[in-house]
Amino acid sequence: MARGKKIYEGKAKTLFEGPEPGTIIQYFKDDATAFNAVKKDTIDGKGALNNLLSEHIMVGLGNIGLPTHFIRRLNMREQLIHQVEIVPLEIIVRNVAAGSFSKMFNIEEGTPLPRPIVEFCLKDDDLGDPLVSEEHILAMNWASSHEIDDMREIALRVNDFLAGLMFGIGIKLVDFKIEVGRQYEEGMQRLILADEISPDSCRLWDMETNQKLDKDVFRRDLGSLTDAYSEVARRLGILPKNTAASGPKLVE
Ligand code: UDP
Repeated sequence: MARGKKIYEGKAKTLFEGPEPGTIIQYFKDDATAFNAVKKDTIDGKGALNNLLSEHIMVGLGNIGLPTHFIRRLNMREQLIHQVEIVPLEIIVRNVAAGSFSKMFNIEEGTPLPRPIVEFCLKDDDLGDPLVSEEHILAMNWASSHEIDDMREIALRVNDFLAGLMFGIGIKLVDFKIEVGRQYEEGMQRLILADEISPDSCRLWDMETNQKLDKDVFRRDLGSLTDAYSEVARRLGILPKNTAASGPKLVE
C-alpha cells in the first residue's frame, strides 16, 4: 500500500498519512526507551511483536463492542488506523501496586489494590508526564467532564477485558496505560481507543512465578525483551507454540 508523508514520529511508533482521508498508517519501530528516553536501545523484532499483540487486543476489544482506531494490519510492521484527535492524557489503570504508584505511596510492588485505580497523566515528555487531577483537566481544558466519565468507562472496560484475557493464559495484569482520541463522524464526536496496547504499555506478570513479561524487562535489565514479548504472543496463540524463545525471527 502506498504510504503518504510522515506526520508524526514518536519514541516507539511513526505515523504516516493513510490511503484515504481520515486514515493513518501506524508503523511500529524496534526502538525501546525508558525513563523518559534517558535509556534507549533498538531491539530486533520488538516492533513486529507489538504490532501483532496490539492488533490481537484491539480486535478483541472491537469484538466486545468497544470502538477503537484499529482498521486492519497491513504487514508485520504497520497497521491502518482511523485518524483521531488524541486527548493529551495518558490513562493508567492499576490492579496491583507497581512502578511509580509503589514509589509515590511507598507500597510494596505486588500488593493487590482493593479496586482498580484509574489515573490521568498529562502527555508531556518535557514535564515527565505528571499525574493530574480532574480539576486540572477541566481547568486547563484538556478534556470535558463528559469525556472524563467516558475515559474512565473505556479504561475500566479495557481492564476487565484485558485482565480476563491475560488470566486465561496464566498472566496477571498489574497495570496498563491507554490513550483515547476524538473521532468526528457525521457531525458527531466520540472518544475511541487509540495508540497501542502491548507489553510496552502494560505490566504483565506470570501468575505462578511473577516473572515479568513486559517493558520492565528492558527498564530493569532483566533479560531479553523479545523473549518476554514472544512468550505473551505464544500463550495468546499469535506465535506458534513451538517457536524457540529467541527465534525464529519475525520476517518483514
Ligand atoms: N506507561 C506507559 N507509558 C508511559 C508511562 C507509563 O505505557 O509513558 C505504562 C507502564 O508501562 C505501566 C503503567 O503505564 O504499565 C503504569 O506506569 P507507572 O506510572 O508505574 O510508570 P513507570 O513506573 O513505568 O514510570
